[in-house]
Amino acid sequence: MSNSNAPDSPAAVIEVRNGSFSYGETPALRNVSFQVARGDFVGIVGPNGSGKSTLLKIVDGILTPQEGESLLLGKPVRSYGRKYLAREVALVPQSFTLDFDFAVHEVVDMGRYARKGLETHGLSTDELLEKLEIDALKDRRFPELSGGEKQMVVLAQALAQEPSLLLLDEPAAHLDVSYQLRLFDWLKKLNNEGLTIVCVLHDLNLALLYFESMLVFSEGKLFASGPTEEVLTPETIEAVYGVHAYLHRHAGRTFLTFSPRSRPTRKEKVHLLCGGGTGAHLMRELVDLGYSVSVGVVNAMDTDEVTARELGLPIAAEAPFTPITDEAYRENMSLVEKADLVLLTDVPLGAGNIRNLDSLREAAVMGKDVWVLDGVAERDFTGLATGILEGLVDVRYLRDTQTMLVDLGERV
Ligand code: ADP
Repeated sequence: MSNSNAPDSPAAVIEVRNGSFSYGETPALRNVSFQVARGDFVGIVGPNGSGKSTLLKIVDGILTPQEGESLLLGKPVRSYGRKYLAREVALVPQSFTLDFDFAVHEVVDMGRYARKGLETHGLSTDELLEKLEIDALKDRRFPELSGGEKQMVVLAQALAQEPSLLLLDEPAAHLDVSYQLRLFDWLKKLNNEGLTIVCVLHDLNLALLYFESMLVFSEGKLFASGPTEEVLTPETIEAVYGVHAYLHRHAGRTFLTFSPRSRPTRKEKVHLLCGGGTGAHLMRELVDLGYSVSVGVVNAMDTDEVTARELGLPIAAEAPFTPITDEAYRENMSLVEKADLVLLTDVPLGAGNIRNLDSLREAAVMGKDVWVLDGVAERDFTGLATGILEGLVDVRYLRDTQTMLVDLGERV
């Protein structure tokens, strides 16, 4: 997939050039250009109303752009007869209802009408149902099927058309997670067999999991396009959907989590002394509330360090399983100096990180606000913590992180 500025490729199945479309006064697509090559597996995402369905209808020839052009296999879509289009392009709509009580195999057979009188090199209905593992549904009445079963039957119908291009409009919208994965596994297989697939979907994690490339729409414009991992960045998601997104890597996979966009930025700078995952939740909450957050000293690869990195926070980090060195201590102090408030989470205190309490003491001496989660003695494995904290008069002890957040919110 590429945008249309790339050199013309004879292998382009779809090419939209400066396409614009309005429903009366309502603009739906504005000056959109891209190409889809033969064998591509392309996902389309974007908020509701951003023009995705309109685009599929333009590619399928149901709508014609008022400006620009939509080409299929190098020729304007409008130059093809309806019958030819029905053969080459199959569109699986968002929902599918039938007024008549057809059996599943009859519904699948309907897909063959477009090929009537033509040679068929594809699978029989029985073979198709078997291939999609829905042969048990063959004689069931279509209206009685579950949403997921219907979706698989409609996919079988589209494949019976033997198209060279399969368009899908939110095929997973009404499916439970098991059907969703089954459907996308099937699409992936069909793509590996050579079918070009363009699919509108909402779930950005499914997009990351299955799609090689993406088109991202926003307010009728193509906001971004390219390889999925390059396109679905937190910055793009924030710009297009207006939510914070965080990228995580786990077991060799990338996935996203989301939270609402921050409220107006708070002025306070908060430094977290944490580790071992005791600060991860708090970091995210504070960032979402709009605070400037920094983190230290944490060991590289520890949950708190990974989370802080994902959130793009300033971090003072030490090598894994290494006690805090002078260098990391100084780095941490440079972050403490910039903070208004220093928080010590309920991180267990051992020989490796006890120096974080020295930072806390220095912060108090500098006149910073210093807040500590209750129960330090119980999580101190050095026997030194109580002594270090004893001399400090203005330390504020809090019951839990929730109280901490509430009190922070009320702090003037
Ligand atoms: P998406 O698929 O991304 O949700 P659509 O392509 O359905 O977006 O819609 C794009 C814009 O066009 C929206 O503002 C929508 O309200 C409008 N629109 C879609 N279909 C019609 C229609 N049949 N008549 C009038 N406006 C429409």
